[in-house]
Amino acid sequence: MPTVIQRGFDSSGRAIKASVAFWTAWDDACEALGFTPTIVQGGWVGDGGASASADTHDGDALDLRLWDRTEDERRQMVRTLRSHGFAYWERYESQGFDLHAHLVPGPWAHPSPGALRQWQAYLDSRDGLAGNAADYHWRPDPIVTEPPEEDPMADYAEQLDRIEKKVADLAAAEVERDKADKDRERRLFANLRVILKERFGSTDAELDEILGHLEP
Ligand SMILES: [Zn+2]
Repeated sequence: MPTVIQRGFDSSGRAIKASVAFWTAWDDACEALGFTPTIVQGGWVGDGGASASADTHDGDALDLRLWDRTEDERRQMVRTLRSHGFAYWERYESQGFDLHAHLVPGPWAHPSPGALRQWQAYLDSRDGLAGNAADYHWRPDPIVTEPPEEDPMADYAEQLDRIEKKVADLAAAEVERDKADKDRERRLFANLRVILKERFGSTDAELDEILGHLEP
């Protein structure tokens, strides 16, 4: 049994649970999406699962809300989640469901036996329902069977950005330090003028001659 982590509760007050491997891929997918879809049912539900889900939510699986998403966001969800190694389908009232999306991972995470059958149906271009009809969404080509590694070039670009910023910060700090040094020197010379004038009776002209070459 994998380590299962709970993240809050769904709209029906049930714990939202999934394995660490699943959440990691989910987080990456949400980052790619730029938004986090609302989860209306999690995984590892045991007997508490919605009956229409059969046993597909006994391991890693999620149901997502769709009515709060635009057409464009829904299209993005199909592409992004399928591109991150999930079998993902929108489910419709015409199929006997409340409108939602159902998603299960491949064997790279911890799907239940029922979810694994759906995963296989997905690989076979089917819809994952009892009628075994054809898949009706965009499909990656080739199909993505596990979450992609983080793009190393994107990592490099990010690191480069960080280094550039660091260098800019250091340069700015250097300028600040130079300025502070100069201010300190100026104060020092001003004090020196006062001391020389008061202690030795030097005139401004004399001081200009003595200090003129030295002052910053
Ligand atoms: Zn579901």
